[in-house]
Amino acid sequence: MIPITEVADGIFKIGPLDTRNNGATPWTAPFLVVGKERAAILEPGEKGQADELLQAIGGRGDPELKIDLNRIAYLIPTHIHLHHIAGANILLERCPNAKVACHQRGAPHLAEPTRLNESTLQVWGQDSGCPQIAPIPENRIIALAGGEVLDLGGRELEIIETVGHAPHHIAVFDRLTKTLFTGDSAGAFHLGPGGRRARPDILPPLFDVDRAVDSVRRMRALKARRIFVFGWNAASYTPNQTLRWAEKDYRAVEKICLEGMQKKLPAVKIAQKVEEYYDSVGRIQGHGEDESVPREQRSRGPIGMYAYIKRKYPDLELPK
Ligand SMILES: [Zn+2]
Repeated sequence: MIPITEVADGIFKIGPLDTRNNGATPWTAPFLVVGKERAAILEPGEKGQADELLQAIGGRGDPELKIDLNRIAYLIPTHIHLHHIAGANILLERCPNAKVACHQRGAPHLAEPTRLNESTLQVWGQDSGCPQIAPIPENRIIALAGGEVLDLGGRELEIIETVGHAPHHIAVFDRLTKTLFTGDSAGAFHLGPGGRRARPDILPPLFDVDRAVDSVRRMRALKARRIFVFGWNAASYTPNQTLRWAEKDYRAVEKICLEGMQKKLPAVKIAQKVEEYYDSVGRIQGHGEDESVPREQRSRGPIGMYAYIKRKYPDLELPK
């Protein structure tokens, strides 16, 4: 039986489900949000999860949901990094009325995913079980700019543009229960009850710290009652605390990286200073981190932050 948790009225966490890839995100939990007429799947996840997700929705989960797949109107990835959406091809086939609703900058890359697949392979590596996606028909994609409201019948999902982690990132706010789904825009982690502070996800090459902080502030203004970040899609702290920490951590890591690049420190030294910062504020954990592996081997360093600083200060060199 697939574990299902009703985390708020009509919002169900499915799993976490095994993604069956290389372990970069070994377990993640999609959410099902159910309205009177329609339902939405948030963070649909990878191909390896799609079958179990559909089974759980259809009634083979615990507790039994028995939601008619015809009622699924939206698949909403917070962004199109493929471990959030690579299962879409399977889900769209089995949910005939569903459309993928994503940021307008991501939409063209789902319709024509050659570049998305290639860049994912580059980042994840060839033999990593890297997620890939087949083209999604344009008539099954809804391009969002932020500010839209998706009506599920008696419940509305508000789309908040939260770029920074990626230039095509959104958060989703359930107005009925004031539940906020932040994707990767306020840290990401593997976190069960009693878990730890989320680690800012600053790996993507197009990471932008100023925009990430703006997004965090916009999310704080919503005064959410509960918050879910990607990974196990749970947070053990209040929305306000989680979002304050996200801003503080973004700025602290920016400062460490900028100083390190100005002093021309080697990448491994800067990464070590970042880890020391994470330790100093309590142990921070990223999603999918294997604690049996020594830290310096686990961490690729804050490479998205380096790239961002390089764009802002072209005279500085990327750490080696
Ligand atoms: Zn991401």
